[in-house]
Amino acid sequence: MKVVITADELKKGIAELNRPLGFVPTMGFLHEGHLSLVRKARAENRTVAVSIFANPTQFAPDEDLENYPRDIDRDLELLSGAGTDLVWIPTVGVMYPENFQTWVEVEELTKVLEGSYRPTHFRGVTTVVAKLFNAVRPDRVYFGQKDAQQAAVVSQMVRDLSYPLEMVVCPIVREPDGLAMSSRNTYLSAPERQAALCLSSGLFKARDAFLGGERSAQKLRDIVRQEIENEPLAELQYVSCADPETLAELKNEVENCLISLAVFVGKTRLIDNIILGK
Ligand code: AMP
Repeated sequence: MKVVITADELKKGIAELNRPLGFVPTMGFLHEGHLSLVRKARAENRTVAVSIFANPTQFAPDEDLENYPRDIDRDLELLSGAGTDLVWIPTVGVMYPENFQTWVEVEELTKVLEGSYRPTHFRGVTTVVAKLFNAVRPDRVYFGQKDAQQAAVVSQMVRDLSYPLEMVVCPIVREPDGLAMSSRNTYLSAPERQAALCLSSGLFKARDAFLGGERSAQKLRDIVRQEIENEPLAELQYVSCADPETLAELKNEVENCLISLAVFVGKTRLIDNIILGK
């Protein structure tokens, strides 16, 4: 497994890789969720590249960039074990040289849900992902359904900018008790870790109601909201029942939907989602 930092090293490393090349962008502190993407990329391509970059432009000043968990040695061990060919760990200076002033923005899809609470987040995501795609030139890219809006926004960017690649969205990997795996779970104290189960249990209750015939968008949202409100350590930021592609909030009866939510458990902001129907 080759590890590269600069753009020149990356260029040389990429040139040596057989095609098709699968690519998994990450912010590091890897877990089984990330590794599931690497394994899928491994199964579908001749070679696999992974980037590790905690992208400063997708964090607001009051967010957790400074404290974002890091453990590069462990990440490299896990990536090597999962069959990665090349790891790119750019520095902030490599990605954002002095006088950087060009941004990639997806318009409508980024105004709702996460975008309404994190107004500069997706512009940072699409800009860095575009730069990563331009440098790596992958044939297939792998993203997690865990960040449902990010997957929708990046898919839109791929279509709108005609990136010659295939976008693959992989299912959410959960802990045995249901908590969606996230690098941020490491911030949780033991009682908070227990309280954080309200996200997945709320979503699973909504799923069970849907499977039992419940079709009211409002009732499905209320089921999730109630579960969060029953947990004293949790504070709901939003719960949404939206069209999985347009992310438009649904009214009345739903045939299929993306239920998503953001919750503060203590100081830690967690997101989770589930797709129902179809
Ligand atoms: P991050 O390092 O948080 O930026 O995540 C890198 C990629 O891994 C993104 O495409 C995420 O959606 C994906 N990912 C993170 N957690 C999970 C999970 N629990 N299951 C599946 N994919 C995930």
